[in-house]
Amino acid sequence: MSRPLLRFAPSPNGPLHLGHALSALVTWDAAEKLGGTALLRIEDIDRLRCKPEFTDAIFEDLHWLGLDWPEPVMRQSERFGAYRAAARELEEMGLLYPCFCTRADIAARAEGTDPDGAPLYPGTCRHLGAAERQARLARGEKAQYRLDTGAALARTGALSFTVIGPSILDRPQIRYARPERWGDVVLQRKDVPTSYHLSVVVDDAAQGIAHVTRGRDLEAATDIHVLLQMLLGLPEIRYHFHPLLRGADGEKLSKSKGSPSLRQLRDRGWTRADILRQIRRN
Ligand code: GLU
Repeated sequence: MSRPLLRFAPSPNGPLHLGHALSALVTWDAAEKLGGTALLRIEDIDRLRCKPEFTDAIFEDLHWLGLDWPEPVMRQSERFGAYRAAARELEEMGLLYPCFCTRADIAARAEGTDPDGAPLYPGTCRHLGAAERQARLARGEKAQYRLDTGAALARTGALSFTVIGPSILDRPQIRYARPERWGDVVLQRKDVPTSYHLSVVVDDAAQGIAHVTRGRDLEAATDIHVLLQMLLGLPEIRYHFHPLLRGADGEKLSKSKGSPSLRQLRDRGWTRADILRQIRRN
């Protein structure tokens, strides 16, 4: 059997904190148990928030944690051509449409919320005629491109995927995907020709990833990824969702809540063993 590839795929939009350390360690540990290799991928599509110094800090922090990966490291900012090609395939299937709505438009007309708690897109621009779309684009109106999730599901039929856990060596379980709860997700943003969902699916396939290890906060998003894989004819992936580290308030650790970065902990004298102990305690 070939050696399975896994990946750790942080976004360099801030310093890594303990939650990232957990995710990275779960990935390298799973690779070891499966006799595979963990790759590193830099998810830097967000031109405003991602910074080269955060990427350098990721390399440094991971090395400090004792982790290593094969070079070259894939950087999503260098792969816009591949994302455009995937979006074109979906467009040719009639599954991608331009959306001119602003955040305020969507908030005003939202029909409930998606699994992340964001306003669910009401499908306004799905109903625009071809002539109106073309006229607005020709006028230079900025559009993002959305997946027509209902039409996509009509094409694929019901979807399932394989989940492994709580241990990476557990027996696989089959789970149904429910992409419809996300509505028509954005696959190409106004500022870049891709989105998190599109890039992650294209790149997991391009890198030959067999197992995705990710936090439970990304569990629901997997439904969209499975749908995109099926539409684009990409290989199936096995998923392992790990628990999230929580702060004293019971909330997920995050930069915005001021969780200390790994670098700050290191500067305070923490060792790699201290990090591991803290992660295990949680
Ligand atoms: N880049 C994503 C993040 O930092 C994780 C990638 C994934 O597992 O899909 O949250």
